[in-house]
Amino acid sequence: MARPLTADIDLDALRDNYRLARDLAPRSRAMAVLKADAYGHGLVPCARALKDLAPAFAVACLEEAERLRQAGITTPILLLEGIFEAEELAAVDALDLWLVVHSDWQLEAMLARRPSRPITTWLKVDSGMHRLGFPPERTEAAWKRLADAPDHACDLHLMSHFASADARDDHYFRRQLAVLDALVRDLRAPTCLANSPATLAWAESHGAWNRPGVMLYGGDPLEAANAASRRLAPVMTLRSAIIAVRDLPAGESVGYAGRWTAQRRSRIGVVACGYGDGYDRHARDGTPVLVNGRRCAIAGRVSMDMLTVDITDIADADIGSEVVLWGRAATGEVLEVDEVARHCEAISYTLLTGILPRVPRRYHGAIQ
Ligand SMILES: *Cc1c(COP(=O)(O)O)cnc(C)c1O
Repeated sequence: MARPLTADIDLDALRDNYRLARDLAPRSRAMAVLKADAYGHGLVPCARALKDLAPAFAVACLEEAERLRQAGITTPILLLEGIFEAEELAAVDALDLWLVVHSDWQLEAMLARRPSRPITTWLKVDSGMHRLGFPPERTEAAWKRLADAPDHACDLHLMSHFASADARDDHYFRRQLAVLDALVRDLRAPTCLANSPATLAWAESHGAWNRPGVMLYGGDPLEAANAASRRLAPVMTLRSAIIAVRDLPAGESVGYAGRWTAQRRSRIGVVACGYGDGYDRHARDGTPVLVNGRRCAIAGRVSMDMLTVDITDIADADIGSEVVLWGRAATGEVLEVDEVARHCEAISYTLLTGILPRVPRRYHGAIQ
């Protein structure tokens, strides 16, 4: 028998989540963010599943865009951080990519090399996150230089990123929005601002384009879920099985350092999944797991290839029983990746992107 751990990817759920992102912002177009191997779900299969729905894709670097083009994907692709060195402009041209320009040296490099056709360009302004982008007071000058170089850049958009669109407290978000409102009025620029949390919670930030990422994969980025985010469906089910069972008297401890100690006669199930697969080692005792579709809890430290769960109250649990670490069990019961994340001092983004290549992805649904 093969090791039972798999990441099952539901491409129909991916498409449903994309449609939700689109329906929440009926006047915007949604570019599907596929960086980091589609947040751990597999770049090319996810792109194929979305290519008839999404008018554009977004990735973090040229290598990710190259993989999509090599797979025959002809959808426009935006490099979210632009080029990392001027030499990349030749490949941007050859692969017909869209570019973010976030700093002076990128602007100069772009104006210094005439591409075979003008590049669709997204000028990034730093509206307060202070990571990438032109300061607001220098954005107009950068915009004018691009606008004056129609052989180099075309179809200009103003782009920015929010630091805290997920937060209950909207103070910081509104400050960024006010900076952007003033610029957009001056430049009369089409915008691309909203990530997943802004798509889900802040209609006033929806622009000509939005950039939903984690929500496509069923991750709810909001600090407090809302009616829209509750409609997201899990895309990845991290599924394994019990490979051994231990019956322990009260007082016995389990796993490295004996972190968990039985308070009563206990049954412990050993599950084929560990931090060597990308499961978070910070998972505390009590982190939820579904065994045969029923909730139980991690008991003891996560090891490299295994973890242990308390199955005392699950009468039918035994060797071979289905274990869902997050996602949808065979019974239909769902364990949200965000709930697991809260037990690991983590976020759904890190859990999903953290699943390592060692775990085979199995694709279900949609056209592939
Ligand atoms: C990753 C990323 C996104 C998507 O963010 P989510 O929170 O996953 O929706 C959008 N814009 C930029 C610039 C990004 O880097």
